[in-house]
Amino acid sequence: MRQARRSTPRRVLPRAVAAAAAGARARAPAPAPRGYEAELAGACRRGEFGLVYQPICSMRDAAAPAFEALLRWQHPVLGAVAPEHFIATAERNGLILDIGDWVFRAAADECRRLRRATGLPVRIAVNVSALQLASRAALRLWLQHLDDIGLPAEALTLEITERVMSERPQDMFEHLRQLSEAGFGISLDDFGTGYSNLAMLGHAPLDLLKLDGSLTRCLPDSPRHRAIARAVVALAHQLGIQVVAEGVEQPAQARASSELGCDFAQGYWYGRPMSGAQVERQLSQAVA
Ligand code: C2E
Ligand code: MG
Ligand code: MG
Repeated sequence: MRQARRSTPRRVLPRAVAAAAAGARARAPAPAPRGYEAELAGACRRGEFGLVYQPICSMRDAAAPAFEALLRWQHPVLGAVAPEHFIATAERNGLILDIGDWVFRAAADECRRLRRATGLPVRIAVNVSALQLASRAALRLWLQHLDDIGLPAEALTLEITERVMSERPQDMFEHLRQLSEAGFGISLDDFGTGYSNLAMLGHAPLDLLKLDGSLTRCLPDSPRHRAIARAVVALAHQLGIQVVAEGVEQPAQARASSELGCDFAQGYWYGRPMSGAQVERQLSQAVA
């Protein structure tokens, strides 16, 4: 997947996505809080959101390409706004339901398109917030959408953070079980940054655990961090959960992640977030 490091050909991309891909490198400053919620509310309708896709590389099986869908907001004045600047607001005011629904459908449509265009069993991971998971209506509508476009739920992985399970964990485990039974993969994001609640690992129906970049980055130089990662990987594997090393930026980090038994790796070393069109070009070159 090293081709992923080529620069983005912005000419051929829709404006929102081209700027979004650029936004993966240079972060815009956070918009001023005043008036920002109102603008966010209309952003979906005005078509200002775009998705970029970052490769999640298997350490063993290059034939099963996987990507994480990452949201970008192309603000008409501020330019590309990174999700860290607006997701928390959208979660607080409930807009995440509409935004998350748009993300789910756009990622599913792109996954279907990429599967058709390349003939490969492409999988896409979608970040979901607690509020979305709590909605039974959302699950019904998502499954209906997948049925409409002819995409199996197995093609999609839902990425959740530990925060999702911090309130009413029993309800959340039940929602996650329903999603897992429907066929979605379930991935625990940013592991190692929150409480890293081990009991929760025993309850949640997880397929993947993502070791946060703050841990991965320390692996080459810190025996202590390597010991932690080795123990987490062993624990996850005992539970039948595969491990993704996130935020891999350098070859030494990639080597260490592989040596410690991580099943997948993600980060700038493997590929920057890119447009769906770029993903298609890369995959087509790889199978040619
Ligand atoms: P995340 O899900 O952990 O996504 C990984 C973040 O790390 C992405 O930032 C990605 O661009 C960045 N990244 C990837 N490789 C590297 C690397 O090698 N080094 C460094 N320093 N960073 C790397 P991004 O796209 O800004 O997303 C930030 C967070 O925003 C995501 O973290 C996720 O929690 C949230 N987010 C993104 N899209 C969505 C969405 O559609 N829905 C929801 N609910 N949250 C989203
Ligand atoms: Mg994620
Ligand atoms: Mg993460």
